[in-house]
Amino acid sequence: MSVPATQTYLCCTIEPLHIGSRTSTGHQEFRQGVAKDHDGVPLLPATSLKGAIRSFWSQDLAMPGCDGKGRECPQPHVCASCAVFGYVNQHHGEQSSSLLRFSDGRLCLGVFRTTGGGKIWLTTPERLATGGLISSSIQCDLIARQETHPVLLGNRVTEQEADYLRLSLGIEPPSNARSGTDHYLETREWEGRPMLASALQRLVVVEEPAMARAAGKFLQASSHVSIDGKTGAARAGSLFEIEAVPPDSLFSFDVSFVDPLSLGVVELLARDLGSGLEVLRPTIDTLDHLLLQAFEKAARLGIGGKRSRGMGRVRIWPIAWRRDEPTTGSLGWPDPTSRPMVFISHSSVNKQIARRLANDLRVGGCRVWLDEHEILIGDSVQRRLGEGIENADFVVLLISEPAVASSWVRDEIEAALAREKSTTPERIIVLPALVEDLGPERIPTMIRTRRWASLHRNYHLGITELLKSIRLNTHRERSPSSM
Ligand SMILES: [Zn+2]
Repeated sequence: MSVPATQTYLCCTIEPLHIGSRTSTGHQEFRQGVAKDHDGVPLLPATSLKGAIRSFWSQDLAMPGCDGKGRECPQPHVCASCAVFGYVNQHHGEQSSSLLRFSDGRLCLGVFRTTGGGKIWLTTPERLATGGLISSSIQCDLIARQETHPVLLGNRVTEQEADYLRLSLGIEPPSNARSGTDHYLETREWEGRPMLASALQRLVVVEEPAMARAAGKFLQASSHVSIDGKTGAARAGSLFEIEAVPPDSLFSFDVSFVDPLSLGVVELLARDLGSGLEVLRPTIDTLDHLLLQAFEKAARLGIGGKRSRGMGRVRIWPIAWRRDEPTTGSLGWPDPTSRPMVFISHSSVNKQIARRLANDLRVGGCRVWLDEHEILIGDSVQRRLGEGIENADFVVLLISEPAVASSWVRDEIEAALAREKSTTPERIIVLPALVEDLGPERIPTMIRTRRWASLHRNYHLGITELLKSIRLNTHRERSPSSM
């Protein structure tokens, strides 16, 4: 089975952007609203994102005779457009799903206008984390402070603006407003991007309900008159309103890459170069590279449909944790053999999340030992697992009701704790991670007092927290000897 590699991208609007649908609100008046999530916060639907990127991609890469939409193509299974983005062949009934899976674009930074036209960027810890904008070393601090100070302020938000926020969103800024928010954010990704640099100083981090209350303010609306094509005059009662996401809004979205080779695709054919068709090596890196080229077009030509007046230019770029340079964005061990070995202990019921975690820990710079519990458990397997724990630098325990009920997982916890006790000097090896809501009394007593990551609440925060623990405890262990 191939586990898709996932890359997170940030998408910044350069001009007002409309992606959404036309909503009728009366006989001749209508409203073109932007797409929103269930809290009413604007989003970029995965289908729209993918459709726009596909059209740019196909301009350069569809093979001759291909319509670029996956409906008409001479050889869709090898066409660099159809094989990658999926196709349904009308004549032969063949179809194939896409190798690139887009998620919805989530609003990371919402532009909020205060009195006098000042611009503030609103966000939440979770949205920052999903967009990869909270560095692993600080995110726990931010979350911890959130409990006592529900709002964090950038150092250039004025008192009046804080008052305005309080009035319009019903949020209570802290009496000792914290300045210098930049200490809390992963700023490397912001370098050379002036909008983000100024957003940093005028950022307000709120809780999710306040973000939802502000949702309507992240939009700008303009009224237009419908023109009769024949007469060139305005139609009677023909006002309509277009909602748009304003410039300098920031979204984040994920793309999962399925490895073409794992599906037996060995070559892709693209446009005619005069001397024949261009042949592409179908690796994940090739796809990633070509995707960046399509994103460049989105910055020049815009995304969204013309028919919904959507063309708005956006700048899209990948964030840290790149698959091709896992050590720079994550743990920072240049030598693969020096990377920590992580053993994932889990119940077979939690196989899916264990696999996802294994993949992300690898992307984060770890080596991973993931046993598959569905194999029949005999003595030799038990011995092998014992060795796995013995050789691991860390053991991540995925805690769930089935896991704590399993004597097998219990044995693994005991083995890991024994291993931890035997280290000199003693160091942390066992890292518990909840994968479902569980009362504290259900957590095994031997690890109850430990701090655990909550993968079920917010997976991105959870994995960041685990990587942070791994990094801190590895460096603690290694630094004396390596000095
Ligand atoms: Zn094609």
